[in-house]
Amino acid sequence: VLKADAVGLYRTEFLYMNRQGMPDEEEHYRTYRKVIEGLDGIPITIRTLDLGADKQVDGCTAASCNPALGLRAIRLCLKEPKIFQPQIRAILRAAIHGPVRIMIPMLSNLQEVRKLKAIIAETKRQLAEEGLPYADHIPIGGMIEVPAAALSADAFSKELDFLSIGTNDLIQYTLAIDRVDDEVNYLYDPLHPAILRLIQTVIEAGKAADIPVSMCGEMAGDPRYIPLLVGMGLREFSMQPGSLLIAKECLFSLSAEKLSKQTRKLMKKLGSSKHERLLDKICRLH
Ligand code: PEP
Ligand code: MG
Repeated sequence: VLKADAVGLYRTEFLYMNRQGMPDEEEHYRTYRKVIEGLDGIPITIRTLDLGADKQVDGCTAASCNPALGLRAIRLCLKEPKIFQPQIRAILRAAIHGPVRIMIPMLSNLQEVRKLKAIIAETKRQLAEEGLPYADHIPIGGMIEVPAAALSADAFSKELDFLSIGTNDLIQYTLAIDRVDDEVNYLYDPLHPAILRLIQTVIEAGKAADIPVSMCGEMAGDPRYIPLLVGMGLREFSMQPGSLLIAKECLFSLSAEKLSKQTRKLMKKLGSSKHERLLDKICRLH
């Protein structure tokens, strides 16, 4: 059956795009509630605003000449409570209508997680004071898309309820290739040893802390990489609907046990002369 078990990445930037001004709390709330009710019990992971860099909107342009490294995503949200507060209030309120998780984009240090948690706690307190119903127990997860976050995934996994690997940005930042610059997209390589090591580090950290790890970058829906990711221990794949059929076909046909053995061999030989042959073998195992 062509059906996913959950919505792994609900991007909220669209609410801000192609318009003048910012959406208010009620607009956020109505939008999320409609989606949550439409899902009828299927879990959804709502990503908080990821504006900036490749996702620009009117009235919110970064002054930086290097916007991918500038005030984007969680950095912008923590700096601008006027933008962030309405969204957090709306998510907490809408989450009484179905299973919701909150996911934070572009984390690079633990202070961001702590500030975010403090904002959520304070928002709950305000909602309670105002007598507005809200979901009290809502899992908070982080996107691992900055190499620093991947390398310290063990620390993040102790303070978060789940991790999701955003390979689109993780590859951009690790390989130092601007994802919107066609001149350098020939360098885009999800199989670069550095990327594979970072992904493995995050999966291992999630396992050690016993929290779920998913992947929500384009890599997760690509059958060229799925066997390897399964071999690394990834079990949650989030992708665009158009990739579901082929990804499911691929996932159903492979043996996790065999892949795990082969992947362990590959990870020990990354970048060596055996790398390509081991990788080919993994890809043929499905
Ligand atoms: C990612 O970076 O992998 C991701 C899923 O987020 P986005 O593509 O929206 O930046
Ligand atoms: Mg991203």
